[in-house]
Amino acid sequence: MCGIVGIYNLPEASKLAYLCLYALQHRGQESCGIMTSDGSQIFSYKAMGLVSDCFTESTFQHLSGEHAIGHVRYSTSGTSDIKNAQPFVVNFSGGQLAIAHNGNLTNAAQLRARLENEGAIFQSAMDTEVIMHLIARSSKKALVDKIIDACSQVLGAYSLVFLTKDEVIAVRDPKGFRPLVIGKKEGGYIVASETCALDLVDAQFVSEIAPGEVIVFNKLGLMRSRLPAGCMEGIPHEASSYGKRAYCIFEHIYFARPDSTLFGRDVYEMRKGFGRQLAKEHPVDADVVIPVPDSGVAAAIGFAEESGIPFQMGLIRNHYIGRTFIEPEQSIRHFGVKIKLNPIRELLKGKRVVVVDDSIVRGTTCMKIVNMIREKGGAKEIHMRISSPPIAWPCFYGIDTPTRKELIAAHKSVEEIRQFITADSLGYLSIQGLRWFKMQNPDEEFCDACFTGNYTVDLPDTPEIAAMASRRKI
Ligand code: 5GP
Ligand code: MG
Repeated sequence: MCGIVGIYNLPEASKLAYLCLYALQHRGQESCGIMTSDGSQIFSYKAMGLVSDCFTESTFQHLSGEHAIGHVRYSTSGTSDIKNAQPFVVNFSGGQLAIAHNGNLTNAAQLRARLENEGAIFQSAMDTEVIMHLIARSSKKALVDKIIDACSQVLGAYSLVFLTKDEVIAVRDPKGFRPLVIGKKEGGYIVASETCALDLVDAQFVSEIAPGEVIVFNKLGLMRSRLPAGCMEGIPHEASSYGKRAYCIFEHIYFARPDSTLFGRDVYEMRKGFGRQLAKEHPVDADVVIPVPDSGVAAAIGFAEESGIPFQMGLIRNHYIGRTFIEPEQSIRHFGVKIKLNPIRELLKGKRVVVVDDSIVRGTTCMKIVNMIREKGGAKEIHMRISSPPIAWPCFYGIDTPTRKELIAAHKSVEEIRQFITADSLGYLSIQGLRWFKMQNPDEEFCDACFTGNYTVDLPDTPEIAAMASRRKI
């Protein structure tokens, strides 16, 4: 998972990119980078770590120009290494070209093997580099056509921003897996993963970049074109069109910031709706509803409203620690819970407590939280409520869910998971409940492959999962 930003024609572009990355920090905490252009060449700064730690006043002296792109990375493809930090810049026959990518390609390994066979030399482990090779090799003349040509060959999820010496180009895959929005500010434009980045820099929201849309920002203004129908082919049932959209539902459940508007819907309202639905599906007699902060807060408010059980902040979070799950090393994640959360005993002692969280992935964090609420908080009963269905399938479109082996719901029943986390009861939101908002607009299409195994775009790099998913019983 990652956050991306593009700035076109604004003074102090590097500082604006920095602020946008700051607002998108929740999307990736492993590395960050900004590249700028002053109209004649591209400047670059990348480092491992948080945006606020990596950039200093002196860094910005080298980042001149009025155009910029930026990236915060949370490794979904490739290992944790500065070589895999983005943006990524190349020199090719068309000049300098930089790219920042959010999403994950599902045929990158296949394409890479082919390109390597043909003599291509790769510098990183990133799937993104494949796109750059395809662009460099395209026989089309104009850069935008080379980009369209390259995108027509890749499968999977990609929201992209490119930077040349005098243009910014943004692309969103035909399925629209990952968000990407445009904002306007004083004669210039800003492209960002989420609207919360636009808010911080006082940019006015213009629109989402539509699935399949390619937008060039240059001195002529803003030019919109589209990826050809048939992109993402290999999808047998819809080979001649984009087919259905596949907005990532997990963005709404967990990933995006609750103050963003995503795929035309407010994240906060969506989360509250999941919580309300959860209360309808799994009611329980209890004294208090508490969230696992921060990701469970909005859903817990929805649960409390629907059930009439009072809401309290029974767990307090230390905000000076990143989301523990973001750290790629297991060992760091495990000791993280205690450091991150502490119960308020006065609120929990002797009480029947509903604990609301957004998801269970491996189950280890959840088990530790239940344990903490019982042992330290003194709760009498603990009723765990999860505002999404069991995650049984890995994501190949950019969310860093682990392998199927590590996903607890891929192997255990809800009752077995309840025993594992040692809760008195456990209730997950149903697939139907997850789709509550579709009652208003049945045409909205979300990707929910992590719950259902319905992978909308083919998985050539992982045929074993594709085969397993096609055999599943739902
Ligand atoms: P578990 O109990 O499965 O070990 O961890 C569940 C917790 O991980 C939940 O609180 C949920 O908010 C969080 N989580 C779920 N998916 C992700 C993810 O993709 N990244 C991060 N950082 N946390 C996640
Ligand atoms: Mg959480």
